[in-house]
Amino acid sequence: MRSKHNTAVETVVLPAGLGWWNLYFICKIALYAQGLIDFHALENFTFAACLLLPIRNHYGKVLRQIVAIPIAAVLLHYDSFMPPLSRLFSQFDQFLSFEFSYIIELLSRFVSLKLILAGIAVACIYYYMAKSIRVTSLVLIAIVATGISTLTTPPAATQTASNTTKNAITSPNDTSNAALNRYLDSFFSAEKSRQTQFPSTDTQGAPFDILLLSVCSLGVDDIKLAGLEDHPLFQKFDIVFDEFNSATSYSGPAIIRLSRATCGQAEHSTLYGPVDPECQLFHQLEQLGYGKELILNHDGVFDSFLERTQRYSGISSAPFPNTGVAATQKDFSGALIYNDGGMLNAWWKNRQTLDNDRVAALYNTTSLHDGNRILNKPPVFGVASYQQRGNTLFDELATFLENLEKSDRNIVVVLIPEHGAGLRGDKMQISGMRELPSPSITHIPVAVKVIGPNLQRSDSVFHVREASSHQALSQLLANILEQKVFDQAHFSAAQLSSNLPQTAPVSQNEGSTVITVNKEYFISLDQQTWIPYSTSK
Ligand SMILES: [Zn+2]
Repeated sequence: MRSKHNTAVETVVLPAGLGWWNLYFICKIALYAQGLIDFHALENFTFAACLLLPIRNHYGKVLRQIVAIPIAAVLLHYDSFMPPLSRLFSQFDQFLSFEFSYIIELLSRFVSLKLILAGIAVACIYYYMAKSIRVTSLVLIAIVATGISTLTTPPAATQTASNTTKNAITSPNDTSNAALNRYLDSFFSAEKSRQTQFPSTDTQGAPFDILLLSVCSLGVDDIKLAGLEDHPLFQKFDIVFDEFNSATSYSGPAIIRLSRATCGQAEHSTLYGPVDPECQLFHQLEQLGYGKELILNHDGVFDSFLERTQRYSGISSAPFPNTGVAATQKDFSGALIYNDGGMLNAWWKNRQTLDNDRVAALYNTTSLHDGNRILNKPPVFGVASYQQRGNTLFDELATFLENLEKSDRNIVVVLIPEHGAGLRGDKMQISGMRELPSPSITHIPVAVKVIGPNLQRSDSVFHVREASSHQALSQLLANILEQKVFDQAHFSAAQLSSNLPQTAPVSQNEGSTVITVNKEYFISLDQQTWIPYSTSK
């Protein structure tokens, strides 16, 4: 009895330390020191204090440990630069359809081998240190010291904001929430009044087809990271958009935005609502006598892609059959992906048998989507996989363009990716994650080729260097119609691109908006407050 009483007294006088929870705080402080996460000192200190509160009851202690684990996870997420949990949970049903191997690949991007080794090393050091010194006291001091340092030096992610304030914008108030909200409001109200005028049916020149190559997961940054920028495909175009913003980082909204290219950029919240037919590119083309076709190299089941495209994009036609085309990849959910060259050549062969003078086709490919596996080849992952799949796709597109040039038909081919792959990743999103429409994901390589058996470009390749988005593309198509390009033997790429509308980079997904103000990026997750978007890793 006596010894029991003594133990109880000891517990009260000298409370147990944080134990292995010390490791949690040590690791977080180390990650903060490297700029990989933020550190909310007050919340962390409160959490540590709760762990230290003396509890005598054994079951109470166990219960505290159980409750502490999810709290620690939420706190770690709160300290990280990752998207809000509500957004991550909203994607959970899609996550369940992923193949096991893809889930493992995603997890390995969250936690690198280097990080695991460092964690083991810290655990070993802690184990031996804890025998001789009271680590808890040191950790508590470190939490307070880190807290003080967060007050004096802004964390890496907010560094850009102070730079913006000092260098780029004259008034420090210009990056205030109110100013950025005003900027966004005025952007959308100006966009509402913009519309591309297409020529009337009776002034049309020689007929030509339009093929939109909608590539999922192809961004300028992905091409650079995979070392594919010198691929011959990119030398084949007449007009190249250097600063094209996809305005979203998901496939569904990307297709709707492309299909509404004849009007200014719409707010994300309006994309699934009613739309003025004048804003619908395919409606406008239909008025000019165009037949509409849809070609997919996948089943369109994931995220109801096919259903949504048919419902909202103005092309309700059934997709072109993939009969006889080889499947070359399997996607992250196990569905087959068909060979791009095979699909396009089969469609083109069929198109040439049709009576219709004018066809506007949308080809959508998922060959570059994250998590795809190449069939009948040794498995490759990450950048190596992207590089291999990118090379194959670009080879096939280049060969297909050569086939078109050999034919006797007029056609305008537009390379218009949906959005980038986010291959590089950054502090806010791991590689392959596209929840936030970050600048590196929405900057896409858009290019146009004008092909006719008797038609040649009279000048050099024209680069559209101004900030552009889908409306510039619709204006370019209107110019090709207006200038009756295919009635002539030569065309000027510069002349075709002379009056293209500019669009400042504003990108949205459900629940997030990213804008660029004086070359600095800002993100809002609540449509009211803004924080700088750090594109560094
Ligand atoms: Zn996509």
